[in-house]
Amino acid sequence: MWDFSTDPEYQEKLDWAKTFVREEVEALDLLFPSGGDPYDVGNAASRAILRPLQEQVKAQGLWACHLGPELGGPGYGQLKLALLNEILGRSYWAPTVFGTAAPDTGNAEILAMYGTSEQRERYLRPLLDGDIVSAFSMTEPQAGADPKEFVCRAWQDGNEWIIEGEKWFTSNARYAEFLIVMVVTDPDAAPSRRMSMLVVPAETPGIEIVRNVGTMEDHESLDEGIHGYIRYNRVRVPVDAMLGAPGEGFKVAQSRLGGGRVHHAMRTVGRCTRAFDMMCERALSRRTQGERLADKQAVQAFIADSWIELQQYRLLVLHTAWVIDTQPHGAARTQIAMCKVAMAKVYHDIVRRAVHLHGSLGVTTETPLAAMWMSVPSLALADGPTEVHRTTIARQKLAEYAPAPGLFPTEHLPPKLEAARERYREILAAYGAA
Ligand SMILES: Cc1cc2nc3c(=O)[nH]c(=O)nc-3n(C[C@H](O)[C@H](O)[C@H](O)COP(=O)(O)OP(=O)(O)OC[C@H]3O[C@@H](n4cnc5c(N)ncnc54)[C@H](O)[C@@H]3O)c2cc1C
Repeated sequence: MWDFSTDPEYQEKLDWAKTFVREEVEALDLLFPSGGDPYDVGNAASRAILRPLQEQVKAQGLWACHLGPELGGPGYGQLKLALLNEILGRSYWAPTVFGTAAPDTGNAEILAMYGTSEQRERYLRPLLDGDIVSAFSMTEPQAGADPKEFVCRAWQDGNEWIIEGEKWFTSNARYAEFLIVMVVTDPDAAPSRRMSMLVVPAETPGIEIVRNVGTMEDHESLDEGIHGYIRYNRVRVPVDAMLGAPGEGFKVAQSRLGGGRVHHAMRTVGRCTRAFDMMCERALSRRTQGERLADKQAVQAFIADSWIELQQYRLLVLHTAWVIDTQPHGAARTQIAMCKVAMAKVYHDIVRRAVHLHGSLGVTTETPLAAMWMSVPSLALADGPTEVHRTTIARQKLAEYAPAPGLFPTEHLPPKLEAARERYREILAAYGAA
């Protein structure tokens, strides 16, 4: 059955969220605009505004909508989450206000699936309550897109694991209560069995933040960004700090990365919609050569192309969410990769057109477009570069096909024509068409 409607009760919640984000949450984006602000649990002023907003979200039953009831969420599923996330995508702070901010969402899933009861009590509960934040430490200075190149090691010494090595771009490490670190535990094993995952309290001796790397989005000085370049200097954690079995690091990582990618994709629908709304308002407001920008064919092409691309992308994301909800685990893998690739392109194209239509104002820091434009490159890199996901899509699609059995393709027309003639030989002969 195909059905594109939203149930009226949930639509009411979405309508509430839409107004709430615009009227209440976007103020936080303006007052605390830095990339790390939503994660800075030590900032008393931002928390004083945040807490009552989070209470309103909880009262609406919209807190931590990515989670099932066993973890304190409503268990709406991915499709309903997608509809909510496209509203939250408008605002940088909204995911924190609604308890769905990355990377905490994925880290919570890992802890729920693989953590001991003690780890869940110590980390998962306060994480789900929004009292602490966490970091995911996977990428290394010499390698990111290909985890087989990772060298940060851990080895067992009595009742402890010892971690030695460097990690790059561990987002929010400076604010985190704990880090989930991917380490090589068996360098001689097959690549997919080399790595393991450890949960490491942030205060553990030996964790050295070499630098807090900034991005072009944050405009911060060299050491004031939020992406930790970390050196693990023989950091010791107990043996039960391992999440999953030794050698299961890839499996554990996959259990969080798929969800993270599709949640980014959902929020990107919201960011693109915001840029599109701005584009349309501008086209109707600005005049040149005696008419509105909206009356120029070139501008109309911008608007039509943007709308088509946005709607294609939105349907892809919603369909992917539906596949995750309704089909066995893993069935959405190709679609998630498609969302990831499409996200970077659609976002780039729509934001670029919106900036261009706003003329000089578009390149100032006086509209949300500046921050959107500066985040274009990140979207094509974070959670794996576009090229890697294209390869995933192509490999999976190609696996559904086989080479042509003979010299010519199976769609080669001469033998097909011959077969059609043969099939209808008598009728064709009766009508003199043979
Ligand atoms: C905003 C942001 C936040 C991030 N947060 C985290 C985090 O919290 N934790 C964490 O561990 N990491 C994080 N990352 C790192 C992210 O996972 C990596 O940037 C990503 O995996 C790519 O790795 P890399 O940067 O080392 O690029 P590289 O691996 O060096 O790739 C660079 C380029 O090489 C090309 N390339 C790579 N592989 C292929 C291929 N197979 N085929 C063709 N071309 C290829 C592509 O053009 C690619 O863009 C974050 C990144 C960003 C931008």
